[in-house]
Amino acid sequence: MASTATATTAVMNEIESNGSRTGLVPVPTPNRAGGTTGPRRPEMVPSVQHSEAKATAANEKTAPMADFGAKCRSVPVVDLVNLIARTAAQSGASDVHIEPRKEGIIVRYRLDGILTQITELPKWMDAALTSRVKVLAGLDIAEKRKPQDGRLVVQGEKGEDIAFRVSTMPTQFGEKVVMRLLRDHAAVPTLQSLGYSASDLERLKGFLKHKHGMILVVGPTGSGKSTSLSAAIASVTSPEVNIITLEDPIEYQLPGVNQTQINEKADLTFTTALRAVLRQDPDVVLVGEVRDAETARIAMQASQTGHLVLSTLHTDDAPSAVTRLMDMGVESYVISSALLGVVAQRLMRKLCSDCKVPMKPSRRVQEDLGLTDEEVANTTIYGPCGCPKCHNTGYRGRIGLYEVMEVTDSVNRCIVSGARVDAVREAALKDGMTSLGEDGLAKVLAGVTSAEELLRVVSRPCDERQNKQKAA
Ligand SMILES: [Zn+2]
Repeated sequence: MASTATATTAVMNEIESNGSRTGLVPVPTPNRAGGTTGPRRPEMVPSVQHSEAKATAANEKTAPMADFGAKCRSVPVVDLVNLIARTAAQSGASDVHIEPRKEGIIVRYRLDGILTQITELPKWMDAALTSRVKVLAGLDIAEKRKPQDGRLVVQGEKGEDIAFRVSTMPTQFGEKVVMRLLRDHAAVPTLQSLGYSASDLERLKGFLKHKHGMILVVGPTGSGKSTSLSAAIASVTSPEVNIITLEDPIEYQLPGVNQTQINEKADLTFTTALRAVLRQDPDVVLVGEVRDAETARIAMQASQTGHLVLSTLHTDDAPSAVTRLMDMGVESYVISSALLGVVAQRLMRKLCSDCKVPMKPSRRVQEDLGLTDEEVANTTIYGPCGCPKCHNTGYRGRIGLYEVMEVTDSVNRCIVSGARVDAVREAALKDGMTSLGEDGLAKVLAGVTSAEELLRVVSRPCDERQNKQKAA
């Protein structure tokens, strides 16, 4: 129990410190009777004991982590791995981290993209726990000095298989284990469900109507690029089109689509696979990632010769994709004739709809967001609180932030003239592009997420607002 309390306290402290760091303060809110309930936040942030009691009372589905620390200490080590793995799957975690520290073992889950400490176990369990994971993952338990990779399957409560990719790594205080949950038959989300604004969605669907050309999705690792691409592919799937995807790894099963797993060991790289795909009479090709100049060149050529090609690049924003392609050696006239549009994206946590509370942003937060006094006065901005349904994080689920750049005539002129990224951005904004920060701000004002969450993902949305005003 003590360790659950520690974890919960840690989460609560984090929320508290985030709150004060971004200067969010609670505001009185009208209640149903028309009066005000006063500052709701302190009242709604329960004490640890209170929240634990609530979490225990809630059913397992909404609070799979209730009593987690106590459970961990009461089961034999042999069953502990199953418990940690099963609870991770039930809580919707994407990864499990088992980390040996000097004094103990920290167990953390990645929930909605954020690592959250779940419990701390005594140091004496370290060797037994790590060995158990390694046995289950088919790794060499005697080898402790080298990193190893494997796969582990545990049984869920209903007897279903829950599979993890396991990676071990020697660290100062022992072997660290990371387990990535492999969701086998995750349903492909629709484009509509990913959080695009109406105008961005329309623009993206416009790109997808083309018979040939290149569509790029850009953003850092973990920004949801492959989910967007899979949803895009699913939206164009029909018996009349031959769609081939090259993926590493295959994340969604796409009915009616030929999906190929890249296998570098067997020399099936993006480049070699793409060459082969072009002899397979494709209409639409998804290249998981353009990693090098050669892949970029072949992909751009293919998109000029009657194929619709979708791919990803690692750039921060949409206009930078153009300069990245140029840096990769793709000629500007090729980019100009092939590129239809670029979608830049990030993932942001959504506020838990069961416990979000109205907040008045501090002056500094208001300035960073670029909000006017009028906007603040006329809109309710919400912040996180914490309840059993969101594991006391205040957030539940994620939503995309988007910047959808269409290669319009003026953007195209910038590309052909080899203009700098600022000029491309200005032209795109003038032609109606909504920047990541602006899209995020709209989601804050709609109460979908908090100001602090937006500022975690996009540092200064105010600058983007200014750019837009300048461009207009
Ligand atoms: Zn909640």
